[in-house]
Parts: sequence; structure tokens; C-alpha cells
Amino acid sequence: MLYFDHAATTPPYEEVTQTVAEVMGRHYGNPSSLHQLGETSGKLLSKAREVCAAALQVKPREIIFTAGATESNNTAIKGAAVQYISRGKHLITTQTEHPSVFESCKQLEELGWEVTYLPVDEDGKVSAQQVLAAVRQETVLVSIMHVNNETGTIQPVSEIGQALKEQAPRVLFHVDGVQGFGKVPLSIKESGIDLYSLSAHKIRGPKGVGLLFVREGLKLAPLLAGGGQEGGLRSGTENVPYIVAFAKALRMAREGLDARRTKFSGLRERLIRGIIAIPELSINSPVDGAPHIVQFSYPGMKAEAFLHILEEKGFFVSTRSACSSKRSEPSRVLLAMGKSRDEASSGIRISLGEEHTDKDIDALLNALDDAVRRLQRLR
Ligand code: PLP
Repeated sequence: MLYFDHAATTPPYEEVTQTVAEVMGRHYGNPSSLHQLGETSGKLLSKAREVCAAALQVKPREIIFTAGATESNNTAIKGAAVQYISRGKHLITTQTEHPSVFESCKQLEELGWEVTYLPVDEDGKVSAQQVLAAVRQETVLVSIMHVNNETGTIQPVSEIGQALKEQAPRVLFHVDGVQGFGKVPLSIKESGIDLYSLSAHKIRGPKGVGLLFVREGLKLAPLLAGGGQEGGLRSGTENVPYIVAFAKALRMAREGLDARRTKFSGLRERLIRGIIAIPELSINSPVDGAPHIVQFSYPGMKAEAFLHILEEKGFFVSTRSACSSKRSEPSRVLLAMGKSRDEASSGIRISLGEEHTDKDIDALLNALDDAVRRLQRLR
């Protein structure tokens, strides 16, 4: 079996599963408890926060642990919208965001906020000029993802953040960093980012844990009311075993960035060259996309049929993205990039992992070619 669905989730590092088992089994105290067991958990939690902060080059008190990036994105957007309601009720995002951002904005629209969904170009990008042109007196927040989960498009978030800081410093800037971290370099501090979301399971950590960077001095209205953990922003007993394991994965993701980027770029180029040689397939990912994602369409063919033929041959891929793959409508992301409904309904996403080799890519390309021939015969 060859797993090519790392943008959906990644296999955890062995160190991660061991850490979860060890901390869960031995250090089960509540980090808020005052006795020794609680103190030990509290120390593990503080250490994990320091490790994450060092990997992101921010301060430990700027890190809020959550149950994943869906929660981080919801907290950033709704928390800022509610906290800064006196500044206005306008938000800016793009047409190609992850559902956890897109649907948060839709919910706020139903409650009376106005949202500008910026259109993207044929590569799926927005520009800093477009963002600045959409800013109004009453704009509270701009939310733009670093790397698109379906196509691998890299948004110019650094330019956008810097432009906002220079020309609209009152407007907060949130970046969903889930698909970019550990694959595409980005400096939170130098990019004028106020809020930044990450998920552990996309970087070989456990599922159900993530973080939100909240720039020092910034306030957010919490989504959850309760015991006031995580600086009052995220009530609920912290998941210490997962957080400690997440910190390990985050450090490894940061440390291995350059090597991973070089390796993935080589594999991606090989993959793209091979896909271009199959005339029935058309590539949707931009040339300068993230090094671990390649998306293509087979117009007129059902993506699921393609996926299951590949699965029979031992290759696990994805239709668009894991969270939207069970929906039958065409991809909102591809439609926004100007693709036809046919193209937008037949997308297959290949996403690379650290274990892959040139040989694996060649095997996948053979399987793609076979699958195309088989689908043609079934037509
Ligand atoms: N943002 C992006 C870009 C993603 O790809 C995902 C996961 O699919 C998420 C947010 C949500 O992350 P989580 O699964 O941790 O809720």
C-alpha cells in the first residue's frame, strides 16, 4: 500500500505515539490541580508551550492550545468579530478558504456581519492590492490561508500582512497555516500576522489537537465558557498527552523544513512531469504551488471511480480534500479558479509524505496511466 493523502492526515511519528502513551499512562494529573501529579502535568504543559513558541519564534504566552485547527479558525474569526464589534462588522476572506473559515464567515453573515469573499486568479491567488482595496472603515479582520488544502496554492500572506500593517494597521490579520507549516517557510512576526492556526495531525502529530497563536495584547471573545484555562480563551482541561506529543511533532516539522522542502520539490516535479504526459489529465495546481500537493482533473470522469481503481491497485489518494470528499457538488475552490464544472467535479489530489521515493512516484504514475485506460474502456 502506498499512502498519498498526507494533506488529509499524516501517520504520526513513532515518538509521538510513544509520548502519548507515556504521558497518558503516567502523568494523568489535571494541570490545574495543586498537588504533585497536577504540578507535573502543569510543567509538561508549560514545556510544550515553550517548545511550540520556539518553533514559531513567538512568546509562550501567545500560544493557545485547542482541539485542532477547526477550533483555532473558529476562535480566531468569531472571537475577533465579537470582541471588536465596536470597530465594525466587516470581514475579508477569499473564495477558496477551508470550510472551517468559510463556514465561520457564513455563520457570522447570518448574524448580521458583512463578509467580502475575494475572488482568486487562475492560480487560486489573491494579491495584497486586492485585500487593501476591500478594506473599509468598519473592517475588523482579514483571514487568508497560507497554503490551499486542495490545490497547494501559496497565498502571498507575508506581503498581505505587511501591506495591512503599513496601510490599515487597525485591521487584524489571521492566517490558517495548517497546510504550509513545515513545508513552506513563513515568519509570523515579520509577516504582520496577528492570529495563526495550526493542526497537529497534518505534521505527524495526534488528531484532535492544535494551536492558535494570538499576538500579545490582542483580545478575543472566547467560544467556550468555563474554567478559564489557556488564558481564559479556551476553557476545558488541556489534553496534556496530545499537547506534549504535538510539541514534539512541531519541533521536528520546523527543524526538517529545508530538507523536506527540497525532497518534496523533486518528487513533485517528477509527478507533474508524469501527469502532463497523460493527455487525458489536466493539472489544477499552480507551477509555484506548495511542494507536497498536486491536484489534477480527468474531465468527464467521476473522481470517486478513479480513486477506487487506484485503491484497488494499492494507492490511497483523495478527491479534493478529506472534509469535502463526501460531498457531491463540484469543488468551490476549483470553480473560483475558473475551472469548468466538469473539471471541478473530477479533481484528484495527491499529497506527498516523508517516506516517498522516486520509485513510489513512478509506481503511482503507472497506476494513474492504467486507471485512465480502464476508465476509458468503461466509458
Ligand atoms: N485548515 C486547513 C487548510 C486544513 O487543511 C484543515 C484540515 O483539513 C483544517 C483547517 C482543519 O484542521 P483540523 O482537522 O485540525 O480541524
